[in-house]
Amino acid sequence: MTQKTEGGDVRLAGISKTYGSFTAVHPLDLTVPQGSFFALLGASGCGKTTTLRMIAGLEDPSTGTVSLGDTDVTHLPPYKRPVNTVFQSYALFPHLDISENVAFGLRRRGIKSVKKQVDDMLDLVQLGQFAKRKPHQLSGGQQQRVAVARALINHPQVLLLDEPLGALDLKLRRQMQLELKRIQTEVGITFVHVTHDQEEAMTMADQVAVMNGGRVEQLGAPADLYENPKTTFVANFLGTSNLIEAEVASTTSDVVTVTCGGAKLKLPNARCQAQTATGDKLLVGVRPEKVSIAHADDADSIPDGRNRITGRITASSFIGVSTQFIVDSPACADFDVYVQNIERDSRLAPGAEVVLHWNPEHTFGLDADQAID
Ligand code: ATP
Repeated sequence: MTQKTEGGDVRLAGISKTYGSFTAVHPLDLTVPQGSFFALLGASGCGKTTTLRMIAGLEDPSTGTVSLGDTDVTHLPPYKRPVNTVFQSYALFPHLDISENVAFGLRRRGIKSVKKQVDDMLDLVQLGQFAKRKPHQLSGGQQQRVAVARALINHPQVLLLDEPLGALDLKLRRQMQLELKRIQTEVGITFVHVTHDQEEAMTMADQVAVMNGGRVEQLGAPADLYENPKTTFVANFLGTSNLIEAEVASTTSDVVTVTCGGAKLKLPNARCQAQTATGDKLLVGVRPEKVSIAHADDADSIPDGRNRITGRITASSFIGVSTQFIVDSPACADFDVYVQNIERDSRLAPGAEVVLHWNPEHTFGLDADQAID
């Protein structure tokens, strides 16, 4: 079933939410493109559910407007908005079979002939053979797919998903992430998905808004957020970053050279989110999987042009496809460095002197005037 639904972008203009003197969501402007899979990502309490509930109409914004396409829906009650929500608790009707659960939205609108639509929906979520079962006869993942089918049957313009996979175990959650993405691509409806799981947001979403303290800290495509975090919060929330305090030694329009603990590192000017005049402080970052590790005895074999810092391994752990090292380096002051995906070398054990090296292109620069954690 491929159903392209009409509608438009979801536009939040200056919406905020305060409870007494507490601001859960600071005024924010956000556009969710029609037909996209959009994730609101952040730690517990950052305001993502409140934002979602304002789109649903379950919460009145303290300021601002919510529009769907050209229609201002700010003051419409939830049931008058072309929006539906799937919650973490699937809230299926236990006494109704799966097909009647899915048919519920149609029956409530007085539609009698529902079979074809229900069958199509169950096919979409690949549960056709379970139509006559009761919810308790399905697994958690299957029940969640019924909840999605039930929410989609009235063809909303927007489907809101509030931590819908939170109750599932890790393996099932990974499967359901791909499944939800497939369903969204097939129906073409805008999905707005709330999660605190960065991997989940990165796997599914076309665009991710990273929220922190009631504000959107950064908005972008997953790869862009990962490659070019603008703040230390985003750098640390999306995966692991090695952040090194450095000082700008020289700068050209293309390349910034910094010094730190006796090492000299280069990074593309285009990947710096801060001033890069000589003497400016900069936090220099590199993702762990971009870093290679060589025993100090092999330092001469490292190709020219790589960023390199020296250090000593303080810990290592084999984690299947990769080995994780923690390295103490004068360049990194008290920071550890994690290195993954290397060929195993028995000399690379705690206590060994090593050289960490990576392509300067994989280095980013952040404003030093912010907390590292
Ligand atoms: P979680 O992942 O834990 O659900 P969240 O990012 O979705 O977190 P929200 O549920 O949006 O966070 O809550 C944001 C903040 O607003 C929290 O500090 C919460 O305690 C507060 N809050 C939410 N609802 C209310 C309310 N009705 N009255 C007072 N404070 C509230």
